[in-house]
Amino acid sequence: MTTPLHLLGVAELSRALRQKQVSSLEVTQHLLACVASANDLGAFLHVDPAAAEARARAADARLARGEGEQPGGALIGVPLAHKDIFVTQDMPTTAGSLMLKGYMSPFDATVVDRLNAAGTVSLGKLNCDEFAMGSANENSAYGPSLNPWDTQRVPGGSSGGSATAVAARLVPAATGTDTGGSIRQPASFTGITGIKPTYGVCSRYGMIAFASSLDQAGVMARSAEDCALLLSAMSGFDERDATSVQQPAQDFSAQLHQAREGATAAQPLKGLRIGLPREFFPAALSADVNQAVRAGLAELEKLGAALVDVSLPRTELAIPVYYIIAPAEASSNLSRFDGVKFGHRAEQYNDLLDMYKKTRAQGFGAEVKRRIMIGSYVLSHGYYDAYYLQAQKLRRMIADDFQQAFQHCDLIAGPVAPTVAWKRGEGSDDPVKAYLADIFTLPGSLAGLPGMSVPVGTGEGGLPVGLQLLGNYFKEGTLLHAAHALQQATDWHRQAPAGV
Ligand code: GLN
Repeated sequence: MTTPLHLLGVAELSRALRQKQVSSLEVTQHLLACVASANDLGAFLHVDPAAAEARARAADARLARGEGEQPGGALIGVPLAHKDIFVTQDMPTTAGSLMLKGYMSPFDATVVDRLNAAGTVSLGKLNCDEFAMGSANENSAYGPSLNPWDTQRVPGGSSGGSATAVAARLVPAATGTDTGGSIRQPASFTGITGIKPTYGVCSRYGMIAFASSLDQAGVMARSAEDCALLLSAMSGFDERDATSVQQPAQDFSAQLHQAREGATAAQPLKGLRIGLPREFFPAALSADVNQAVRAGLAELEKLGAALVDVSLPRTELAIPVYYIIAPAEASSNLSRFDGVKFGHRAEQYNDLLDMYKKTRAQGFGAEVKRRIMIGSYVLSHGYYDAYYLQAQKLRRMIADDFQQAFQHCDLIAGPVAPTVAWKRGEGSDDPVKAYLADIFTLPGSLAGLPGMSVPVGTGEGGLPVGLQLLGNYFKEGTLLHAAHALQQATDWHRQAPAGV
């Protein structure tokens, strides 16, 4: 192979592996060396070279038997890594928290299990904000992950380690989770492609719960084509998740090349209507982000898409609604970390209540505590109606706004975040400032819609900008199709940070 192995994406690696141009062991060893030399980026919380090599050898044996050419064989031997919020049997799972330091799960998350079965080779576990709460990966108890485009900047969060690892070309793809933007925003900040499917498409079994009505697994990779390959393997009904959608597994790769009526080779998106919500382009949107997003939209137009104006009038309300509902669910979900069955337990305590108190005081970081307090408050007697119930009603209205908008368009587009990646430390001193930056990703999350971030060039400081594409329920295929068409015609997604 002439191309350095770390520069190959999932689809390219899949082809090279099946054509025996390279073995999974070679790719795995090459990437393990890249990971070791990029230790200062803080992307990984755990690397297991021996286990990865063993998996790679097993994959090579499967490839030697010709399994790569069989249905479902495309990912055999492809290395990746998992956000440390997915539980794994063979490696510790921390959720970025001291509460789960060294925790070994007795089972694998369904997403991990399916990707293992598909033959992927996991190199390790990726850094993230503690219990996925954050937008900068600065809430990890194990230190931050740095943006490879500029290590003075954050990679976004909460799937910051996944974003850093994929952008720095340490792995061709990674899993992530998105509760309020945690796949799309870090993908935008690091110039990679990310997809969060419709709520219920990927199983939440074994994904450490933050806000269960919002949490959704997805993929972070270097192209829509690569996202489609992974999503096909990890999605599909799972009886162990009560909110898993009862539908057969889909082949998202096949949907990359949807035949649209009236489409031509030059205009593959002919007939596709893309709605631009006016609320997604406020005066406060930073000029560089606006410019890059407009450039992306202009390309989509060249490919035949029609841009139409739509409105999502309750966009601003998504922030208070999300920051009531998500902490409310978090306060309930995190009550299980009490030092009794698993995780950290305080060493010294007087009685049971004291053990709970000390364990939780020691195990949780500041942001997690803040959310547990907010969540407990909004759920408490007397405040429930005023906050939580109101938020639930507004959540429904936000979802209804999308249905109104989708009467006029097939996809919705806008920025992922109001700015490029900010400087380290800038969000951590003022949590509300960080919450406000979630404005464009929260509405889609509250509605449970699928969304993507697709790189569309760079802004201030040469930092990447992502275009957000949102689809109606179960329109992942249309999203991937549009993103793929854009990536076939442009090379924004191929741009990499200097020195990789
Ligand atoms: N930034 C949002 C938060 O802090 C979203 C996090 C997420 O999607 N996991 O809650």
